[in-house]
Amino acid sequence: MLAEALAEFKKQNNIHNTKLCALGEWIEKLKDQDKKDAESLLFDDPISNHRLSLFLKTIGFEVSTETIRKHRMKGCACLWMN
Ligand SMILES: [Zn+2]
Repeated sequence: MLAEALAEFKKQNNIHNTKLCALGEWIEKLKDQDKKDAESLLFDDPISNHRLSLFLKTIGFEVSTETIRKHRMKGCACLWMN
């Protein structure tokens, strides 16, 4: 009930996938397997936020540990539809 109303609200306000945190934007730009790997890295692997930020830096994406933490906790700007 709430999910439907919320989906409709977001549709009407055109806020579906228009606002993402830095990490969300980066993931959104990735393609197919890269995207799956990135999501798996964030949500399935027990790697610390700090180590993850160091790793991402080595592949050219600089993001703060705080951004990673918030994204993992789903407390960032990204709109979590699930
Ligand atoms: Zn995010």
